[in-house]
Amino acid sequence: MTAQADNPMEQAKAAIKAYVLSRGAVAVGIIDADTVERIAPPGFGPKALLPQARSVIAIGVPGCTRGTWRSTAKVMTFIGNSVGPIYRAAFGLSFFLEQTYGQPSLFVPPHIDPEYGNRIPLQSLKLHAELAGIGARSLAGDILLHPEFGLLYYGSVLTEMDLPPDRPMDSNPCPSPACVKLYRAEGQTPCQKFCPVECLSGSLDEAGQIDEMVCDMYRCAEMCQRYETMGDLIHDGIVAPTELDREEILYGAEAQGFLYRVTSGIGATHAQCFECMRACPVVTGAPLADPIRMGEAKRKAAKAKA
Ligand code: SF4
Ligand code: SF4
Repeated sequence: MTAQADNPMEQAKAAIKAYVLSRGAVAVGIIDADTVERIAPPGFGPKALLPQARSVIAIGVPGCTRGTWRSTAKVMTFIGNSVGPIYRAAFGLSFFLEQTYGQPSLFVPPHIDPEYGNRIPLQSLKLHAELAGIGARSLAGDILLHPEFGLLYYGSVLTEMDLPPDRPMDSNPCPSPACVKLYRAEGQTPCQKFCPVECLSGSLDEAGQIDEMVCDMYRCAEMCQRYETMGDLIHDGIVAPTELDREEILYGAEAQGFLYRVTSGIGATHAQCFECMRACPVVTGAPLADPIRMGEAKRKAAKAKA
């Protein structure tokens, strides 16, 4: 037996990977909590949530089916995200770790910090995943991309176990060669070009690497997240010039759509229009970008093994 296979923490790491893959994840990476603590803004490191945290486990679940990518922006705003499987894999992992290894572990709520309004998360799941080597920051608003899976959704578990860490990715799949070509010809990459509200801008350097990334998130957030809609509707209703206008504002299509989204579940309120991602060659063209490609790869591997 090798020294590595003999190491109980290496064995635990292998068991963690097997567990999350069996629960629908496709990528997992680990980073030590002190490293995240040094980089996260003060008060937003892992120890703010679990004071004795020693490791952060980042998990990625796949993005959309190919059929979803071929559908409309309206459909994408409801089912473009796939955060549901994160609960199954990451929440489940926190129970698995405590039950198997007897070490306190915490599923990081993928939610906002209620002390700071609606835009500041409790933890940056993106930072965890980036440091753990399961995604790299793209020109599309820093959305993480993975060279094999394209777009993933991320979750994190904090644990007091001292697990062997991974490393950030050596290279970034963004921008792809096709994006560099378009940028040289038109001054914009596909994600920048196809965003309907021009949220995204930035530049590539001489070597075709990211030089500057700018994301006007309030344009995107206004379009996608609608946190201020209730206040706006009430305000507009109060100042409406006529009774008919007031009724339209408070009971019309926009108000109905907003209330439906709020009451139909958290997944439905947080999805985006995804036009930037639909245009991205990494997101739709990665070798395992959708279940059709994953199935093909699985059947090919089984055939080669037979
Ligand atoms: S989700 Fe839509 S609005 Fe937001 S950056 Fe992407 S294309 Fe633009
Ligand atoms: S389209 Fe995708 S790969 Fe190309 S620059 Fe934008 S995020 Fe990067």
